[in-house]
Order: sequence, then structure tokens, then C-alpha cells
Amino acid sequence: MKAAVVTEFGKDLVVKDVEIPTPGKGQALVKLITSGVCHTDLHAATGDWPVKPSPPFIPGHEGVGEVVALGEHAEGLKIGDLVGSAWLWSACGDCRFCRTSWETLCENQVNGGYSVDGSFGQYMLVDARFAVKIPEGSDPVEISPILCAGVTVYKGLKMTEARPGQWCVISGIGGLGHIAVQYAKAMGMRVIAVDVAHDKLTLAKKHGAEIVINAMNEDPAAAVQKATGGGASGVLVTAVHPSAFGQAIGMARRGGTIVFNGLPPGEFPASIFELVLKGLTVRGSIVGTRQDMAESMEFYSRGVIKPTVSTRRLDEINTVFDEMKHGKIDGRVVIKY
Ligand code: NAD
Ligand code: ZN
Ligand code: ZN
Repeated sequence: MKAAVVTEFGKDLVVKDVEIPTPGKGQALVKLITSGVCHTDLHAATGDWPVKPSPPFIPGHEGVGEVVALGEHAEGLKIGDLVGSAWLWSACGDCRFCRTSWETLCENQVNGGYSVDGSFGQYMLVDARFAVKIPEGSDPVEISPILCAGVTVYKGLKMTEARPGQWCVISGIGGLGHIAVQYAKAMGMRVIAVDVAHDKLTLAKKHGAEIVINAMNEDPAAAVQKATGGGASGVLVTAVHPSAFGQAIGMARRGGTIVFNGLPPGEFPASIFELVLKGLTVRGSIVGTRQDMAESMEFYSRGVIKPTVSTRRLDEINTVFDEMKHGKIDGRVVIKY
């Protein structure tokens, strides 16, 4: 099969022939139809994070395809099923996190396109317990980004604890952010979008943001405070620059919650005085559980979420990464096999 392989961090991916994997116990082989390209795949290929994958590996964790072979005991799946892969490729199911609806924090989890080969190839393996059932009638191109971007921001927004009618800031309107604007709106929040690129803010407006702020032209914290008369109840950061993280704290209302989804390498400054006096909560949020996934898919099926997507071929992956690095992608790029 053809796959895009990371052979060395920071180098172009090599699109080449590799062996089709064989499903083991509890696994299925999936013939891919589409795969979204997440900024996490770029972090993986660059070796950006402290815990690194081991080259050679195949990135990708927004794959949609058809089950074509089953390993032993691949319960709940049959040949011909349309399934998706996720970052949470599997978890142990038996630790304190897995037992308490926090499988996303399982220390024995396996991550798609990171610790196991992912969806940047014509075939991939899935764990039958964690394979995502793709709702009937879905467009594989459109639903691909829900598998990571969608579930991540849906969970992230829940973690902000912002209520219907309250202000919520989405900082970073890329693959994750443009979908976050739509979920926030569907969840009844009033949306402010922040980015550093004009075209991203146009996209945010199209998807329902009431106010847009270009952080290149004005201090986004001051602008949010002014527009909301005291700050936003929830702030969701999906941006890929550390500066957005420090600014997010200044956007929150007293008692508000700031949730970090974005994962650029680096650190940010935070005023202890501001955090304490304003009673702020800052928390990280990583993807979502299988239940979050099912809920986020339902929003798509109801037609209230419609990712902005453009399709490319697998052998264009290095161009796609280059465009992603330079913030040149509108919404999400999806590879079509
Ligand atoms: P993307 O490249 O599609 O979008 C990033 C956006 O950030 C772009 O619109 C860019 O213009 C914007 N941006 C850059 N600097 C900014 C700044 N200073 N202020 C505001 N906006 C700024 O990336 P993506 O696929 O949406 O992923 C975003 C981040 O989320 C990545 O770091 C990725 O690894 C991470 N991620 C985390 C999870 C999770 O579970 N926590 C899941 C998926 C992705
Ligand atoms: Zn992702
Ligand atoms: Zn576990």
C-alpha cells in the first residue's frame, strides 16, 4: 500500500510502498477513503513534543474507511462497516482514569498516528473497542475533521463551563477553531473569534462569530474586555503560538474558565495576582472520550456543524504541511484516497 512515512523528524515525509498491516486480536483492517490533516500530525513529524514518536511511523488520526478484514475477537465490527480512527486509538479500560470516564488520561493509551501507525496510508488498523462508528449518510470528507478537531473542541467547550447566552472566545481559527465557533454557537454561546490572519476571521464570521478580533492589530485581551463589558465566561485556545495562551487569561471574566486545546511547544507568562484575584480556572483538555465522540458526531449528523474542507492527494502531504506551517489553510485539508 502507499503511505506517507516520517523517516526523520523535521524532514519531508516519504510517500512510498509499505506492507499492508495484519489485524491482530481485537483489531480490524480498514481501507481508507479519507483522512483529515491535523496540526498534531505536523507536531509529530517535526518531533515538537517532549514525548516523541519513533520514526519510521505513519501519522494521521482523522481517518474514515471501510472494514475489510477482522482479527480474532474484533467484537462489534463487521466487514463493510464504515469506521473512523481517532487520536485515542485505544486505552487500557482498567485504570483509575478509564474506570472514571477519563479514558483520555489513561497512561497506557495508544495514540493514532503517533504510537501506532495512522491514517496517512491506504490501509490502517483500528482497535474494535475504540473504532468510531460513522453515522449513516455522513460525507467521509466532511466528517473526517470531526474525528479529532470536532471532538476536541466540543469537549474543550464543555470544559469551559460557559452556559447558553454567555460569551465564549475561540482563539485560533484553524482546523479546530473554525469548528469550535460552530459548536459554541450550537451550544448557545455568544462567540468572539481571535486570530492573527484576516481570512481566518472572515471564516469565523461565516460560521457564526458575532465579534472578530485580529490580534496583530490590537491587544486582544483589551478588545474582548471592552466588547463584553468585563470579559468572556469561557475562553478556548486552539492557537499554535504560545503568545495566544498568555493573552487568553486577560480575556476571561472574573470567575471564568480558560481551556487550552492548542499544543505549540513552549511556555507563556501568567500573572499570579490576576489568576487569584479574578478567581480564574485554567485547564488543559485533550481530545474526548468515546462518549464525547458520539455526541460530537450527532451534532454533525443533525446538520448544525459543517466543517470547511478542501481535498488533496496523499502525495501532496508535504505541500499541505508547508501551507499549515504558514497558516495558509482555510478550515481543514482532507486527503482523499
Ligand atoms: P491549524 O494550523 O489548522 O490552526 C492554527 C490556527 O492558529 C491558525 O488559524 C493560525 O492563524 C492561528 N494562530 C497562530 N498564531 C496565533 C495567535 N498568536 N493568536 C491567535 N491565533 C493564532 O491547527 P489545528 O489543526 O487547528 O490545531 C491547533 C492546535 O491544537 C495544534 O497545536 C494541535 O496540535 C492542537 N490539538 C490539540 C488537541 C487536543 O486534544 N488538545 C487535539 C487536536 C489538535
Ligand atoms: Zn488531531
Ligand atoms: Zn486506562
